[in-house]
Amino acid sequence: MAGALDGQVAVVTGASRGIGRACALELARHGAQVVVNYVANADAAEETRDAIHELGGTVVLVKADVSDAEAASDLIETAVEELGKVDILVNNAGINRDRTLSRLSVEEWDEVIGTNLSGMFYCTRAAVPHMREANYGRIINISSVIGQMGNIGQANYGATKAGMIGFTKTAARELARNNITVNAVCPGFVSTEMVTALPENIQDNIKAQIPLGRFGEPEEIAAVVRFLCTEGSWFTGAQLSPNGGQYM
Ligand code: NAD
Repeated sequence: MAGALDGQVAVVTGASRGIGRACALELARHGAQVVVNYVANADAAEETRDAIHELGGTVVLVKADVSDAEAASDLIETAVEELGKVDILVNNAGINRDRTLSRLSVEEWDEVIGTNLSGMFYCTRAAVPHMREANYGRIINISSVIGQMGNIGQANYGATKAGMIGFTKTAARELARNNITVNAVCPGFVSTEMVTALPENIQDNIKAQIPLGRFGEPEEIAAVVRFLCTEGSWFTGAQLSPNGGQYM
């Protein structure tokens, strides 16, 4: 298997299913050795590992809750111990706890901030010293169209996804001198459990707001992530928005 990412090491958080799984497979398909992080579902993580093996790729599974600073640091250190370095970090792990503001609890606020925003920071701060040492890095933060346009019932989620964009721009400015690029991918609605769990009438309402008339597929997001790694060398601090035209 010869590919543009041969010899590179990628860490993908929350990679046992959905967009993270698709990113792990796509990066492996182009030759990267991949660390598949998961938090709970070992069966799904093993299935992702088997799929990467079928591609002839190298994969390491690491269980870690990225909302825990020490666990996030251990995830990156394990990647370096097992595979020697970290070239690519995809901060993908994310959750939603949707409630309108009048019903949103402090716990639901904290939980979403902890995983989506703090988790990104914890993994990034652990990876950056290794990338600096190598004078190379690609950090890709999976934000969301919700961080760009807002959405009823998603104040906590939208705050994290907008926060990820602010973080991306700042980190891009700070790390450019080390040849580390930092970009945000802001998907619209994608067919994963996060979206297919919504009631059918709500799914139909959302589709009606998408000019291309359908949800995205995880592979369409993974292709953008891979592009940033293989061809996107002059992108940093950018928002790439695969969203079917929902937000322009
Ligand atoms: P998903 O629920 O299928 O996947 C999320 C993954 O993150 C799961 O594997 C989960 O186990 C993992 N995860 C959750 N908390 C974690 C933690 N504390 N530590 C480590 N892993 C953890 O959803 P998805 O749609 O694949 O979402 C992936 C990312 O894409 C998320 O950040 C999500 O916000 C973002 N996103 C999704 C959509 C969409 O429509 N599906 C749209 C825009 C952005």
